[in-house]
Amino acid sequence: MLGWERADVIARAAEDVPPAAAALLEAAIEQRARRRPLQHLTGHQAFWRHDFVVTPDVLIPRPETELLVEKALELIRDRPAPVVVDVGTGSGCIALSLAAERPDAQVHATELSPAALLVARGNAARLRVDARVTFHEGDLLEPVMALAGAVDLVVSNPPYVSAEEWVTLEPEVRLHDPRMALVPPEGVPALYGRLVTRAAATVRPGGFVLVEIGARDRGQAARAMAGAGLAAIETRRDLQGIPRIVGGRRPTG
Ligand code: GLN
Repeated sequence: MLGWERADVIARAAEDVPPAAAALLEAAIEQRARRRPLQHLTGHQAFWRHDFVVTPDVLIPRPETELLVEKALELIRDRPAPVVVDVGTGSGCIALSLAAERPDAQVHATELSPAALLVARGNAARLRVDARVTFHEGDLLEPVMALAGAVDLVVSNPPYVSAEEWVTLEPEVRLHDPRMALVPPEGVPALYGRLVTRAAATVRPGGFVLVEIGARDRGQAARAMAGAGLAAIETRRDLQGIPRIVGGRRPTG
């Protein structure tokens, strides 16, 4: 609105706000009072180490998803030049954070929504990792089938809200986050089954599959991983103590 940095707010505190900017601010406050997310008013959300542009076409990155990035980095720490696939990339927050942390990584990001892909590509260019991130339009791992056996890590924050739960969500989420980023049409268990089976077939022996889960999904995600032949299945809780990510490893034998 003012085009001021945070430092200007302090340094220029004595200045009057120009009427045009004040009117814009009033309008934004009114929108926010009507439960439009702040991130749609500012157009930005911080995630991990970077600022991401967000629009109504992408899920606003959530702080708990940073745990997925942290664990992903741990899993690929000892792998030189890792190949990583992020399924359903949305704003690109996971894929691009990993690419920025690991300059030797090749990252592939899939996404069903062409509008979301545009946002993710823009973020890749802004973060200057676009040369090492390949975007693919399509469902789950379908667009990267050619990489099967060559992938070190498949990571995903898939939609995992049931249709029943979705109606109970806050207006900011229910009315403004893309429903397809939250609610899988086939249902949550079927989505995990399909995602994990394909992910297990995509990673190389010794490779990892890592997914974000909802509060009640630990059991079904772990079962899907075991059913897909993954081993060393592990859950990690977020800062609120809620089971938030499940990972497994494709056996080498
Ligand atoms: N944690 C998200 C929420 O707040 C859900 C994200 C997802 O479905 N992947 O609604």
